[in-house]
Amino acid sequence: MEWLRNLFKIFKSREDSGDEVNMLQPYINDPDYDVFHKDGKIVIEHHPERKPIREAFNALSPEEKNAIGKTKGYGGCNHCGGTWNWKRAYHSISYTKTSGYSGLCDECWAELSPEERILYFKKWLKRWKIDEVVDWKLVRKTAGMGKRS
Ligand SMILES: [Zn+2]
Repeated sequence: MEWLRNLFKIFKSREDSGDEVNMLQPYINDPDYDVFHKDGKIVIEHHPERKPIREAFNALSPEEKNAIGKTKGYGGCNHCGGTWNWKRAYHSISYTKTSGYSGLCDECWAELSPEERILYFKKWLKRWKIDEVVDWKLVRKTAGMGKRS
């Protein structure tokens, strides 16, 4: 696929330039603009040439999007496995005043009950051997318990 080869060519050149940009993000969220820090300033670059690449990316199947995400080293949603190059996770469970877990994409968060979200959180705690003291009251609250949905 020609567009995919072009996509990786762009990634390669950008990685070599040392930008702090999240490489796949511009193609999906706000594809025509890059916003990044350089020499203490915020730089905004306009890239109208990306539109066809983004459209081609969006037309891929979830499996293809995940395959691209995995080659770029992205992790993914703990429920559906969708990779973070195209899945979003706006919700998170807070377990201390400053720490949170957001291992579920928006679709899965909406689909799961608060109890199920907490189950994923517990698995994550165990898997990563998180040793901070967990505020379970805060966990239940931020997982959505006690809210009507
Ligand atoms: Zn998901």
